[in-house]
Amino acid sequence: MSRNHPQASSADAVVIGGGVEGSSIAYQLAKRGLDVVLLEARELASAASGASAGGVRQQGRDPRELPIAMRAIAMWPGLSEELGADVDYHQHGHLTLVEFESDLPALEQRVRAQQERGLGIEMLYGDDVREVAGGVGEQVIAGAFCASDGHANPIWTTKAFGAAAAREGATVLERTPATGILSDSGKVTGVETADGVIATSWVVNAAGAWSPEICKMAGFDVPIHTRAPQMLLTTELPMDLYPVIGCVSKLISLKQLMNGRYLIGGGWPASVYQDIDSPLARNRHDSITGSASHSSAIWPQLLKTKVLRVWAGLEAETDDVVPILGPVDHVEGFIMASGFSGHGFALSPYVGVLIADYIATGETAIPMDDLLLKRFDAPGAVPTIEPLPS
Ligand SMILES: Cc1cc2nc3c(=O)[nH]c(=O)nc-3n(C[C@H](O)[C@H](O)[C@H](O)COP(=O)(O)OP(=O)(O)OC[C@H]3O[C@@H](n4cnc5c(N)ncnc54)[C@H](O)[C@@H]3O)c2cc1C
Repeated sequence: MSRNHPQASSADAVVIGGGVEGSSIAYQLAKRGLDVVLLEARELASAASGASAGGVRQQGRDPRELPIAMRAIAMWPGLSEELGADVDYHQHGHLTLVEFESDLPALEQRVRAQQERGLGIEMLYGDDVREVAGGVGEQVIAGAFCASDGHANPIWTTKAFGAAAAREGATVLERTPATGILSDSGKVTGVETADGVIATSWVVNAAGAWSPEICKMAGFDVPIHTRAPQMLLTTELPMDLYPVIGCVSKLISLKQLMNGRYLIGGGWPASVYQDIDSPLARNRHDSITGSASHSSAIWPQLLKTKVLRVWAGLEAETDDVVPILGPVDHVEGFIMASGFSGHGFALSPYVGVLIADYIATGETAIPMDDLLLKRFDAPGAVPTIEPLPS
């Protein structure tokens, strides 16, 4: 990784954005022998991928995302070895809890739908829930458990992808924002930076919350807006919780890290405000208290902890909370990999494969048709499954 690396004057592909998605894509492109430049405006993992809760979850996915999530899960256990760096991956499952009888039928129906799509997920009731997570509040009556879900460290993962991309021959340029997209006769011809133009026929927009700006540089708009999920980190307690916990009636995503600290998210919002030249996130007090109260109702042990740190990260959210992946009709050679809507970390290993396969061969193992930007041309595009907080 370099800030002083001489900038290439041409490349087969330029990836804009050194979050977990862009770094994974750059790695997979370089692995396929393409000459690739990864441009990062700040540092790798400085935005959503640095703030992420690191949940690696298949359950609760929109059916358009589930095939990507399942293929990504097949990659996660071997990722540290493949990338040559620890990504702190732990596969202890994800448990979505139910407190009220009235919420049971909907979750049971969702579990059946996911089983029909091939996901290994089951309903647990009463004491069986406590076999998996002994400390849940006494009001919990059931849960949906997917044993192959888990969590990993998002900063380590992003940096591991970036370093592996560089080892495979990619030029990774931090503190080097893309400032313009060049095209001729409707085809990408290059990317502008402060250090000059990189001639290329492929551009990947993996700029997260800033991806609408990159689209504007290419002359079109995308239905992506910015939100900022907020996280809490607590003091440590003896290890007691191994799966990641969610709940249908509370805004909570809870995990205990291997150092005993609890990491709490679930979609509590921070404020997004415009600084001089970029949006920033500011923590919200009501989200701190709301998050603490929801999570301690579900996991009462949390009442013995103190909040150590609060932070938030800027995330790109689409109108149907499913990412936009693949080519666009507006400019040939311009590929979207953005709009991960609060749950893109888990998908990242396979997002790299999907986009790199498309660029290198024109073919992908799973179709991207339902993930293309043009799905928003049809009125009434809505999520077909209520997304879970990550
Ligand atoms: C608090 C929080 C918790 C989350 N928890 C989970 C979870 O548990 N599980 C899960 O699966 N997902 C989770 N997510 C979502 C997940 O982290 C994101 O979907 C994922 O990290 C998005 O990665 P990205 O590479 O698209 O974006 P980012 O990580 O935001 O990367 C985009 C990069 O583009 C760079 N950039 C911007 N403009 C330019 C430019 N002009 N030139 C070059 N570079 C540019 C930025 O500096 C940034 O580094 C969470 C997100 C947040 C914020």
